[in-house]
Amino acid sequence: TDFKSLGLSEALLAAVAENGYSAPTPIQEKAIPHVLARRDIMGLAQTGTGKTAAFGLPLVERLLEENDRVQPCGARALILAPTRELVNQIAKTLISFVRKTPLRVTSVVGGVSINAQIKRMSRGTDILVATPGRLLDLVDRQAVRLDTATFLVLDEADQMLDLGFIHSLRRISGLVARKCQTLLFSATMPKQISELAGTYLTDPIRVEV
Ligand code: AMP
Repeated sequence: TDFKSLGLSEALLAAVAENGYSAPTPIQEKAIPHVLARRDIMGLAQTGTGKTAAFGLPLVERLLEENDRVQPCGARALILAPTRELVNQIAKTLISFVRKTPLRVTSVVGGVSINAQIKRMSRGTDILVATPGRLLDLVDRQAVRLDTATFLVLDEADQMLDLGFIHSLRRISGLVARKCQTLLFSATMPKQISELAGTYLTDPIRVEV
């Protein structure tokens, strides 16, 4: 299988080639067509399997197709990850995917000044990559609104639970658009993850690598 047969358009295929990806990894092959078909996903995959592109490529494709306006303080897609390092890594990969598109990627993490983030979010963004705690700080300061987000990715969900983010995740899930396509990735499948999946995923496709 190649990337083209997974349903990606020329803009994304160019980004894939520039990143030096010649063939999709197993998780990309299994997940991309379902994400493009608007399905929710429960993905069991470790870091290093190519899962960032597995959700990032079809996410960018969908945002390009829908071409909705960005609202002030709003985000069209939200990606949550447990740590600053992972957020920055995901944002870097997504920036490489949107380079030749009009889409904007913004990341917000704790441990750095919130004021610059408030300012950056005032125009809104297409894709917001965030750690849950700092995101909710911004929501509470009315610097971020999530009701226009129609795409939610919970990356390394088991790590987020281990770090005590369960209440934050529940709160954030309640703030995004009612019709929100949700992708949950986890390296392990403890009971709390299956409960989270049961509550927030609609008829999910299970993808395992
Ligand atoms: P991830 O699991 O998303 O952290 O990705 C792990 C590494 O694999 C990253 O350095 C990616 O750039 C790389 N990668 C992702 N997809 C592919 C692909 N299809 N071909 C080659 N490398 C890839």
